[in-house]
Amino acid sequence: MESLRELYKSGPGPSSSHTLAPRRAILLFLQRVKNIAYAKVELYGSLSLTGKGHFTDKVIIDTFAPIPCTVDFKLDWAYPFPNGMIVRAFNNQDELLLEWVVYSIGGGSIMILNEDFDFQRQVYPHRNFEEIMDFCAFNKITLPQFVFTYEPDLPDYLSLILNDMLFAVKRGLEGTGLLPGKLKMPRVAKSMMLQANILESHTQRNRMKLLAYAYANNEENASLGKVVTAPTLGASGVMASLMYHCYNDLGYSRAQLINALAVGGIIGNVVKTNATISGAVGGCQAEIGVACAMAAASMAYLEGGNLKIIEYAAEIGMEHHLGLTCDPVGGYVIIPCIERNGAAVLRAVDAAFMAKTIGAIKPNRVSFDMVIRTMNYTGAKIPMELKETSLGGLATECTWDLPEDIEH
Ligand code: SF4
Repeated sequence: MESLRELYKSGPGPSSSHTLAPRRAILLFLQRVKNIAYAKVELYGSLSLTGKGHFTDKVIIDTFAPIPCTVDFKLDWAYPFPNGMIVRAFNNQDELLLEWVVYSIGGGSIMILNEDFDFQRQVYPHRNFEEIMDFCAFNKITLPQFVFTYEPDLPDYLSLILNDMLFAVKRGLEGTGLLPGKLKMPRVAKSMMLQANILESHTQRNRMKLLAYAYANNEENASLGKVVTAPTLGASGVMASLMYHCYNDLGYSRAQLINALAVGGIIGNVVKTNATISGAVGGCQAEIGVACAMAAASMAYLEGGNLKIIEYAAEIGMEHHLGLTCDPVGGYVIIPCIERNGAAVLRAVDAAFMAKTIGAIKPNRVSFDMVIRTMNYTGAKIPMELKETSLGGLATECTWDLPEDIEH
């Protein structure tokens, strides 16, 4: 498995696959070739079909600037991965200087054909969660200790990631006005927070605050603000809202939250290694489902759950999102994405509660590895129009008065 630095990454929204990954690829491309007169980029698959709503062309042009760059949305993709782009640079004589075929593989991670970058290095020798649990049990260590054994410098990095999550929610709670794009959706997190504060029931107040935090993070994401992949930007509000809630309302320390990020991170990493965290490959179960599993495991850890309870919480979080489709309206990461982050963080807290209470009565028969394999199998069965292409589902139901160029 790769480093957790490859899972948690800070960057501009709204989509790790469609903005963070292309930006990352272009920055690496610019390091590799000099004296570019102009560049041409072709987008394929989901990058092409939802690139407009995800602002992919804008991010690519901004990253190349001041070098002029054109972006073409193409349909005839000949490569095996469903989300990719071809980047070409030319000199003043119109000669091709460099061509890269880039796959956006989910969560802002990229693969560049015939290139071998250090970020693809394997850091953990373990292949699945069972092997990790066996290792922890044999060595009598916790999951955070396991992570920091293989990545001793990671706590400092996770501290920065925690800052970025907390700031994203804080900024989102102050935001007003309309979200960018043609849906004309208002930002509502600030109003939700005001509503939460007047609720008398402690439980209801906490749940409403969690919802407000998730909306705040994802309204920032939809506004191209800086958020953290967990495991993706579209699903970034689940972990960020949980961290904000645990820090500001429940009194957990930063050290405890850094450990919780390590626990959630290893859950996301196991899925990324054995299945996918890309909505274009596995549907929304691979994004929101995984985010819920990560948050459920983190919450179970913070509440003192042992390895089995943490695994059970993650398994519940993932299992009950199986089959969830990705059909963003107009190609924007707004509907159903923002609301879905709120629903998932509430479900994550409930999953941790269920694991603790039901886990004390009977052992769980479904392992986390089983549910990951099932998610991968299910994702392969979901039709292409329900995997981040905006060609079906809510995206074709909720067209309202979207202009021609964005309506599918
Ligand atoms: S529906 Fe889910 S997977 Fe699709 S863009 Fe929204 S959050 Fe991402």
